[in-house]
Amino acid sequence: MNSPALTLPAWDSPLPEALDHGWIHGESRSAGGPLIASINPATGEAWGNFDESGEPAVDAAVASARSAFVGEWSRIGGDARAALLLAWAARIAEAVEQLAWLETLEVGRPIGDARALIAQGPLLIGFYASLISALEESADGAVRRARGVVGAITPWNFPTANVLIRAVPILAAGNTLVLKPSELSPRSAVLLAQLASEAGLPPGVLNIVPGSGHVTGAALAAHPGIDMLAFTGSTRTGQAIIQASASRSIKPLTMECGGKSPQLVLPDMIDQPEIWPGVFHAAFWNTGQWCSARTRLLVPKGGLEAVVEGLRMAAADWPIGDPRDPATRLGPLASGKQYETVQGYREIARQTARVMPLSAVPDADGFYAAPELALGAPQDGALVQQEIFGPLLSVQEYGDLDEAVRLADDSAYGLGATIWGADRDAAGRIAASLSVGSVDVIVAPAARPGLALGTPFEPRRQSGFGIEGGLAGIAAFTTPQAINHAG
Ligand code: NAD
Repeated sequence: MNSPALTLPAWDSPLPEALDHGWIHGESRSAGGPLIASINPATGEAWGNFDESGEPAVDAAVASARSAFVGEWSRIGGDARAALLLAWAARIAEAVEQLAWLETLEVGRPIGDARALIAQGPLLIGFYASLISALEESADGAVRRARGVVGAITPWNFPTANVLIRAVPILAAGNTLVLKPSELSPRSAVLLAQLASEAGLPPGVLNIVPGSGHVTGAALAAHPGIDMLAFTGSTRTGQAIIQASASRSIKPLTMECGGKSPQLVLPDMIDQPEIWPGVFHAAFWNTGQWCSARTRLLVPKGGLEAVVEGLRMAAADWPIGDPRDPATRLGPLASGKQYETVQGYREIARQTARVMPLSAVPDADGFYAAPELALGAPQDGALVQQEIFGPLLSVQEYGDLDEAVRLADDSAYGLGATIWGADRDAAGRIAASLSVGSVDVIVAPAARPGLALGTPFEPRRQSGFGIEGGLAGIAAFTTPQAINHAG
């Protein structure tokens, strides 16, 4: 992307006050109650406060979303809806720099990486907007209707993308939305809603209620005024949300939860040095903080030397450091809590595996953690079975392909997998044996998987349920209505 010269504000420069409040009915709304502190992950210092929206603000946002749903938004039709979403995309394209800066400040995303991913946001909106007319075509006599007011709760690991991936199909389907972003990254969500209002989305179509999970999130999940709830976050929180969602009413849910995804290097690829930059990226991008991170590496017996050599060389291209520096590719972990969690797993790694650091952290305050390998991690141990959400890759050897498949599929999670193998048919057979929603099959060692927005998938097992991507990814937020004509 064509970025402007780096003119980032100092860490302590003031942000627009509106970003500290909710966005309800097309305007900034202060909750006027308790505040939550924001901590800069690159320094560990508190730098600002934002609203705990709480129940009254959630009530107001749900009422606003209802009035927009029964009012203007339901009357404008698919073409006008698509045009408004495209106008929003254009405003986001102009605001990439501000959104990227907020991610850097709030969760330590390296600025260059944040810019590159956020610049794809308008493409995502364009893609879903282009599907709206197809959504309205009925193949079976039923008419697809929007569900109404949808509630969404999102995480922090890619703040802008987390919100857009969730919000865009919901809005494209004709619903209105009340979204609670993570307490680590509320401001990019508020800015996105402000941009939507500037682009002409009617008041109430996209509302943001910042706040903690246990107060504002819980109020939204339990709210009887929402017609559907879409959650993205950890499996543990997903369990709590499923229970809370049924406490005062029943509503359909989508749950996009955690993962512990394997990458299998087949014998015909282990000696190909070009795979290692891709293996590294799959495991350590965003300092290992992404749901689809491939954090279990399975290689043929005798392959550990190639792993260590290949990943050490790959690590040299991923400098760790100040996330404001455009040269940085690995920033700090997003929070002190995340840092403590990763330290706990590192301790387990020291007790149960052979630990191999791939690079060193900068001599600085902040929540920095270097990428590490846990060689020979036991299959039934925490390093292989639990989601760490940090830069720690378990590495295991397998004897034959049956064992490789058995180890790869022995997981409570079912989000994704990567197969590095030159024989497309053999890799395809392995893919069919894995209980996961999405498989990258890489047959040329230097090839890398692209963004596959058009291909729907659904997580399995403890990774959740609900279709993502493609026309099916929008249809998931509609409901079929049968019109039975008589006479
Ligand atoms: P989290 O589960 O701690 O929080 C997610 C969201 O839920 C936040 O907005 C949080 O405030 C809210 N929340 C927490 N407790 C709540 C409660 N009791 N009631 C209502 N809301 C509550 O997860 P996180 O640390 O923000 O994000 C990391 C997790 O998200 C990882 O497990 C990762 O795999 C997952 N994730 C999944 C996907 C996916 O598409 N499958 C994408 C990104 C992240």
